[in-house]
Amino acid sequence: MDNMIRLASALQQDSIVDGPGMRCVLWTQGCPHHCPGCHNPQTHALDGGMTVSVDEIIAQMKNMKLQSGITFSGGEPFLQAKALVHVAKAAKQLHWTLWAYSGFTFEEILEHEDMREFLSYLDILVDGKFREEEKDYRLRFKGSRNQRIIDVPSSLAQHKIILSAYDDGNQNLD
Ligand code: SF4
Repeated sequence: MDNMIRLASALQQDSIVDGPGMRCVLWTQGCPHHCPGCHNPQTHALDGGMTVSVDEIIAQMKNMKLQSGITFSGGEPFLQAKALVHVAKAAKQLHWTLWAYSGFTFEEILEHEDMREFLSYLDILVDGKFREEEKDYRLRFKGSRNQRIIDVPSSLAQHKIILSAYDDGNQNLD
């Protein structure tokens, strides 16, 4: 059902840790990746959480004040890419920036039409599974060094991975 989204929790607002500025966060339910050391194991069950209509989510977004963007997290947002396209379009109309976290890589996402369409609305994708052995608390906006903070529009336009300026990656560490 493309008009319903399975969420792990209610739409959050005022986050300052899931991307730049003050953002709302959509915690999607369901993840196939099962990364060892995952901080959100309660989001893995595909039949867990609760279902909420796309219209309800969009109505809540429109009532929010002072948000500069939305971050799709989870769980694995791209499992519900088709429904999330509607949310992404609404976020664009609010002139918000769009970030998403995914255990899939950018290259894997490109192989699936629905996922590719959702990707095309994003400003930033933080991609790849969380790897405990590459965990580093000094990293900003990502959990492990293998993950990439990707500038999506530039990467799609140039047909290669362009890292965002937010990816201070492995260089700017103490
Ligand atoms: S992709 Fe994210 S939510 Fe899924 S298991 Fe890995 S860290 Fe957890």
